[in-house]
Order: sequence, then C-alpha cells, then structure tokens
Amino acid sequence: MVKSSVLGYPRIGADREWKKALEAFWSGKLEETEFHRQLQEIRLNHLRKQQEKGIDFIAVNDFSYYDHILDTSTMFGIIPKRFPYDGGKVPLSVYYGIARGTKDAAASEMTKWFNTNYHYIVPELGEASLVLTENRPLIAYQEAKEKLGIEGKPVIVGPLTFLKLSKGYPISETDDWLGRLLPLYVQILQELEREGVQWVQIEEPILVTKLNTDDLQRLKKIYGTFAASVPNLNIMLQTYFESVENYSDIVALPVKGIGLDFVHGYSGNLSSIKTLGFPADKVLGAGVIDGRGIWKAPLLEKLALVEELAEIVTTERLIVQTSCSLLHVPVSVKNETKLATELKDALAFADEKLHELVLLAKVASQGVTGFTTELEESERALQALKLSDERNRSDIQHAVAGISAHNPERSRPFSERHIAQQKKWQLPIFPTTTIGSFPQSAEVRKARQQWRKGDWNNEQYATYIREQIDIWIKLQEEIGLDVLVHGEFERTDMVEFFGEKLAGFAFTQNGWVQSYGSRCVKPPIIFGDVAFREAMTVEETKYAQSRTKRPVKGMLTGPITIMNWSFVREDITREQIAYQLAYALRQEVEALEQAGIGMIQVDEPAVREGLPLKKDDQEMYLAWAVRAFRMATCTVQDTTQIHTHMCYCEFHDMIHSIEAMDADVISIETSRSHGELIHSFELNTYKLGIGLGVYDIHSPRVPKVDEMTSMIERALRVLDPKLFWINPDCGLKTRGVEETVDSLRNMVEATQIARAKHAQQPILRFN
Ligand code: GLN
Ligand code: ZN
Repeated sequence: MVKSSVLGYPRIGADREWKKALEAFWSGKLEETEFHRQLQEIRLNHLRKQQEKGIDFIAVNDFSYYDHILDTSTMFGIIPKRFPYDGGKVPLSVYYGIARGTKDAAASEMTKWFNTNYHYIVPELGEASLVLTENRPLIAYQEAKEKLGIEGKPVIVGPLTFLKLSKGYPISETDDWLGRLLPLYVQILQELEREGVQWVQIEEPILVTKLNTDDLQRLKKIYGTFAASVPNLNIMLQTYFESVENYSDIVALPVKGIGLDFVHGYSGNLSSIKTLGFPADKVLGAGVIDGRGIWKAPLLEKLALVEELAEIVTTERLIVQTSCSLLHVPVSVKNETKLATELKDALAFADEKLHELVLLAKVASQGVTGFTTELEESERALQALKLSDERNRSDIQHAVAGISAHNPERSRPFSERHIAQQKKWQLPIFPTTTIGSFPQSAEVRKARQQWRKGDWNNEQYATYIREQIDIWIKLQEEIGLDVLVHGEFERTDMVEFFGEKLAGFAFTQNGWVQSYGSRCVKPPIIFGDVAFREAMTVEETKYAQSRTKRPVKGMLTGPITIMNWSFVREDITREQIAYQLAYALRQEVEALEQAGIGMIQVDEPAVREGLPLKKDDQEMYLAWAVRAFRMATCTVQDTTQIHTHMCYCEFHDMIHSIEAMDADVISIETSRSHGELIHSFELNTYKLGIGLGVYDIHSPRVPKVDEMTSMIERALRVLDPKLFWINPDCGLKTRGVEETVDSLRNMVEATQIARAKHAQQPILRFN
C-alpha cells in the first residue's frame, strides 16, 4: 500500500483568520486565553481537514504562532539577552518581542527561507545557554491524538539546518554548538518515542546545498546519535526545494526514511535514485505533488513517476508526499468566483493538493480502474489552458523571439553615455534622489478605496492623485532634491499595479500566502503570454514633470521582480516569461522617453531572491535575468538615464551581474548591512553610477546629519565620487509624512557637507 503524507499545511486559514487573531492579540483587542483558544481551533480545523481527506501521515507541530524557526529557537531557550526572560516556558511577550521588537529591544533579524518568499526569524545563538523550555512536537502530537484521534507525525527542523541558519557564533565553534544542541534533540525524540510516536519528520533542507566534509561528518554524528538514542522511532529525514547533493552519503544515514523532492529536484533526485539505487531497508518519501506551485498536477504523469519509483523501492516502502510544506501555497481554490473557468479549472491550492495526493496514493496501490476519468480530468484542464488564446499570442511570441535574437545593448558604453548625460542634466556632484514612493497615508489609501468601490469616478481619483503629486513635487524642490519622483500614489503594490495593466495576468480574491509573521501576500498569477496593452505610468510621470524644471524620474518595476513576486505558468520557462515581461516593459520605457521623461528607474529588488540554490544554476539564472533587464532598457538614447534599485545587502556574490545590467545608476540598500556591501566594493571596483542608501527607511526614527555623513564618507573611500549618488535605502511609502520630510532634509544637509568637502579635492579615481 502506498501511503500519503503532507509535510505541512498553511497556517493562515481559508479566511486569514490566523492573521486576524494575531493582529487582534497584538493590538490588545483579544486577551490571551481567547487568543490561544482561537489558534487551537484553527489548528485543529486544519488537522481535521487532512484527516477527512484521508491523508495517512499528517504533520503536527507545523503550526506556529508566528514562525516555526522562532518556535524552534525559543524551544531551545535561545532568547537574546536584551529580552527579559528567566527560564521556563517562553511567554508570548518575549516570543513576539523577538519577532517584532519591543520599545526597549530590537527584533531579531528576519531572512528568506531558502529560495522562497517565506521569512524566518534568524536564531541568535551567541549568548544563549541552551535548554529545552518545552517539547513542542510532543505537545502537538498529544493534542492531535486527544482531540481528533490523529496519529500525527511531529515535524522539527533538523540540527544541521538549524545551526547553519543561525547566527551569532564563529564557524569554528560549530561543533561546540552542535554538542550543546544534540542532547536537547535527543531528549525531544526520546520523549516522543516513549509516547509511542511512530514517525517523526526531521527536516534538513540544507542537504540540497553542497556540504563540505566537516558538515558530512556532523550529519553522520547527528543521525548516528539519534539512531542509537531512539531505536524505535522512525525518522523521516526530509529534504526539499532541490535535489540532494551527496546522495550516497545521505541515503546511507541510519534513518528509517528519506524524503526527496521530485518536483523541484526532479531530475537530480531521479537520476541519483536510478543510477545509485536506494537502500532496501529504507522508506522513500517521494515529494511528487508540488508544495510551491499553484497548478494542478498532471496526474497521469505523476502516476508514471510513482510507478517508476515503486519499481525501485517497492510499493510497501513508498510514501507519496507534497514536495515541501504547503505553507507556500494559498488555502483553497473553492472560493474563487471571479477567475475565468479555464484558469480556475487548472488550479490546485493546498486543499486541492490534499485531494490529488490521496488519489495518487490510492491509484498507485489499487490500480487505475475506476479512477481514469478523475486522473484524466487534471490533464484535460491543463491542456485546455495550454491551448487557450491567452497562452498562444503569436504576435508576442514572434516579437519576443525577434528581440531575443539580438544582444540587448545600449548603443554606447557607459563611459560615453555618462559624459553625454552629464552634459545634458548638469547635475551637481553627489546628486540626491529618492527611490520612488512617498508616504501612502491613510488618506491616500482611502481615496483608492473610494475609487475602487465606485464612489469616486476616474476623474475624481486622477485629480486626487495629481494633487498629491503637486504637494510632493513642491516639497521635494523645497527640500532641495536634485532628481524628483512623482511618488507612486496611484500604486498599492509595485507588482500588482503593472500586472493589472498588462495582458496575461490574473488576480485571485483569496490567494494569500504567508510572507512573514502575520503579513500575507497575494501574488498575481502569470497564466498567459504577457503583453503591453497601453501606457501604464506615462500620465502621472508626465504630469509630475510638467510641474517642475528639475528632472522627474519615471518609475517601473522590472521583469525579474514582477516574475519572482508572481505565481507563474509552467508550460514555458521562467526565462521565457522574463523576456515577455521585458518586452512589455521596454514598450513602457519607450513610451516614457517619448513623453519627454529622460530618467527612468526600473526596480529590481527581487533579483536576489530568485537565485537558484545550486551554484551551477545560479550563473544561468543571473545571465538571463541580466539579459531581461537589458532588453527592457537598452533601446533608449544615450542621454536617457536608466536607473535601477535593489533592496537587501547580500550582493557580494553577484556584483558582476549587477554591473552587467549596465544601468547608468543603481541605488542599493546599505545602512542595515553594516558595511558588508561597502566591503565588497573594496574588492571590486564598480564603474557605473551608484547610490548607496544612507539611511534605513524601515524605522520611523529620523537619522541625524552626522550619521549620514559618516555613511557617505565610508562609501567614498571605495567609490568614485563622480559616480556617487545620495539617497535613502528604499521607497518611503510605509513612512509618515513628517519623519520623511525631516529625514530628507537631513540627507540634503549631509550632502551639502560632503559637497563642500569633496568638491575642492581633485578627483583621481575616475577613468
Ligand atoms: N520604487 C519602489 C518604491 O519606492 C521600490 C520599492 C522596493 O524596492 N521594494 O516603493
Ligand atoms: Zn528597495
């Protein structure tokens, strides 16, 4: 009998009730007992759903009050000393303090979970004395059993992955930390074993990256220790998001089951298992249903894969699984009422995937008789979408193929463009600008609501937007900025705004996924060929430019960012989708230029997060990402200045790709990265225009002039003053008006100080 297993289920709830409960609790509207009660109800509901569907192995302890990595660190007593805590079960005030910060203590850092858009709270080991504060997997197991009679499968992140994702200790101390951590894991597992738990899912996604010999040794030590300590507990060593590196070492570990991703690691894992075999004493957890994508599975194809695997490991030792936790997909397609039938029929969110999984397990065990219609149905739905007009725009396909055939290149190199641009724009040394958006006040959001509901007509809304532009153009002039922006008041979201105007996109009503904490995002779906329909940003930008003599920078979201922040079709490659987007955006860039806008920023904050996990794939990805950006921006005149912007600081390993984008100016985050970025410029000279963010926009605090002065001075030690711009770290849309104006005033003052100091010095470095 082939069994089915779910690696984890979304916690937010079909109606985002989880999010609502958290936020009500934080704002004091929900008292703690009631909060616990509501969360338990949500948790049990999710378990019940899986139970009713007939899932054999249901994950418990996948649920969280915020983030499962934070759960793990607080379980191990890893509480940064700046929070008041003196042992025992970690109170919610401390737990949420670490996640969100308090008035006295900064939150822990948050970062992306591998290559997903889920963010976890980075454990701060440094000063922690490790202790088991509670056995969370055990509590979750007991609850599921008592309340629902479910024989749950506790999940826990594995020690190697946990250590690798933690910070606050030197690499040389890894083994010491492992030595402290292991006994706590053992204690957890022993208590589970004593309780009669059958299977536990220990997650080591770090195994899809290359391990060095030290880490391989650690891995052997960890799982050797477990095998010796809990001989009667079945461990499913779970990996996901890619194929495993070091396959032979991993399958030789003394565990009962190995979980592999046969969606995102399909070819690597399949070829390993076929060429190297699979140990006869182990169970294979085959992740065949995509835990990250939103499309129905082609079930006949999946069945063939399952049968192929069964031949190697036998049906007795095969479990069909989701490829990773379903955390990364929305809850259910059921309540989507506005999508075209052709599209809706091809979608499968978490609940629909439960169904696919059970069906697949059944068919793999009992044969197809009686199930053929159901199996064929998914293929039919996918096929219908494939043949739809939206996916077969030959005009777009031809045009994109046409422009992809040429190397997308500006007509002259930067060194020449730079001179032409300088002549045209006559900007002072250290030009000042912002990243694009200004505060989206409650009033701005309300105006948009009124317009969306139909209470305001288009003209009323447009008038309102123009008023905002007027206010901010005046303010920017008065503050003394050199390159102005219109403020993005007409946009809620930098991807949605363009998605709504381009062909090939669809929007769900309820397709939310957790991004971090209670924050959920509702990514657009790129389901068809992407096409430019009409100018998207020209009107507002042109209007803004008409109100000032200073240059106004047009503001677009780049192809890679739009793609990485959307769910995408899977019948063509991501590279192809990126080129289609680039072609559409190129038309917008040209329309802006035509309308007299001579500086155009194409934001690419999401390039980094699309980076594949495997080194070999990274290069290819970066190559076509750069190409897409260039495709979108290469047709403008020499004097038209192309800007780009990126957030986050981890660029040291891709600085050459950033340079290859050939943007005339890039603005980039630095203030939170503690000089790391600056350090990478010590190692590489950057030869294009660059603005390092001189203050952190994530905090409402108004930075002092001298703080920014020291940021500027530090940057000028490694960057050419002639190419240096001064700007904040990112867009200002989440900030208040007053603090924004005050901060920008200070920024301009710091700029004047820098100009006075550096203008007299001969400039040596520029060549
Ligand atoms: N232009 C955008 C803004 O200012 C850029 C946002 C981003 O990088 N995430 O809001
Ligand atoms: Zn940014």
